[in-house]
Amino acid sequence: MAAGRDERTAVVLSVGEELLAGDIRDTNREEVAAALRELGFDVRGLRTVGDGAEEIAEAVTAAAARASVVILTGGLGPTEDDRTRHGLARAASDELVFDEEELGRIADLFARVGRAMSESNRVQAYRPSRARWIENRHGTAAGLRAEVAGALVVALPGPPFEMRPMLAEVLLEDVVGRFGPGAAPPRVKVRAHGLSESIVGERVREFMGEGADPRVGITVSGGILTVTATSHAADRASAERAVEAVGRTVAERLGPNVYGRGDVTLEEATVASLRRAGMTCATAESCTGGLVASLLTRVPGSSDVFLEGCVTYSNAAKSARLGVPAETIERHGAVSEEVARAMAEGIVRTSGASVGVSLTGVAGPGGGTAEKPVGLVWLGLRVDGVTHARRIVLPGDRETVQLRAARAALDLVRRGASGTLGVR
Ligand code: ATP
Ligand code: MG
Repeated sequence: MAAGRDERTAVVLSVGEELLAGDIRDTNREEVAAALRELGFDVRGLRTVGDGAEEIAEAVTAAAARASVVILTGGLGPTEDDRTRHGLARAASDELVFDEEELGRIADLFARVGRAMSESNRVQAYRPSRARWIENRHGTAAGLRAEVAGALVVALPGPPFEMRPMLAEVLLEDVVGRFGPGAAPPRVKVRAHGLSESIVGERVREFMGEGADPRVGITVSGGILTVTATSHAADRASAERAVEAVGRTVAERLGPNVYGRGDVTLEEATVASLRRAGMTCATAESCTGGLVASLLTRVPGSSDVFLEGCVTYSNAAKSARLGVPAETIERHGAVSEEVARAMAEGIVRTSGASVGVSLTGVAGPGGGTAEKPVGLVWLGLRVDGVTHARRIVLPGDRETVQLRAARAALDLVRRGASGTLGVR
């Protein structure tokens, strides 16, 4: 190990001109960094470089001088712009060798899916002579593990669904194998919906001071609040107890707005609360165009509780499909409490679900008026024979308004199913 380098340090490198150009979002680096952090690694750098072998080599060399683990993603494919293998060889002062066995594996893969292998795929069978392969079960680009100046350097393909399982394998076998198991400082996450960051900040203020341990941090994204308590206490067991206790206190103070712990999503919590209550759900959407239904169906097993969704975008559809009286729409407008209520009642009547939720709003950017501004959404909820309505005004562009409205609807269903609608 190089002198002065902390054992559990890492650098994450992303390779690709399209990342530099801002054409695609670099989600790999976030995932890789988070996974390393979970193993107690201090991630000292996240860097993006272009496709050139020279710049890749330079970045790997620099990273290997400061960190004991370097993970790269991208540039392992068969095309001319995929030069990670070349850069890695250069940084390792190694040369590329052709690996007949690997070519056989690539050929097998093509045979299995009934496609002809192209000549360009041959390049994927080249590896630095001292590097070892990492199997890719979802694509042709195998990964590589190599040594550079005493650091473990791992190259993985760019497509996230290929990268992910390979990363898991590398962390388990190579990283834990070599550096031993480690763990991030104990952390508890509490997830909530429907509260502002400032209100949450006030309720948990005493845990947010600079010297506090456990220390609480708040992040907000699309209407969802995550309160994280982390402890750096030297004794791990007491650190774990401390974050647990603070997590409980935070959850108590935020009350029924809390929908879960850890990495649970709001849609998962909604499905779970319907299931616990033995209830089924159907949706009637206008301004969200089916997003609530789409979010619900992302949850595996949601077919137990989700019956159907109607996208009634036009006034005529609201009447024909859900029986909203034309006169109600005429008198109050499509975006109104009355229409939201009638939509929720209509979807329960026609679907037979125990819970019906509806949305009608102005997603923008056009169509707003003084009385009904962009971002105004009326939500309806029919549960236990009672119809509820909520008015919200959401900030943001069209996409943001739609996502936040959909989440508000999910949360309404969750609270309706768990009997906490009226609770503050
Ligand atoms: P392939 O065999 O698919 O070419 P590759 O290792 O050469 O694999 P790249 O060509 O760099 O990977 O990227 C392929 C695709 O993977 C990109 O078009 C992009 O969709 C995705 N991708 C690459 N890098 C990242 C990243 N850092 N974050 C998210 N997605 C990425
Ligand atoms: Mg490629």
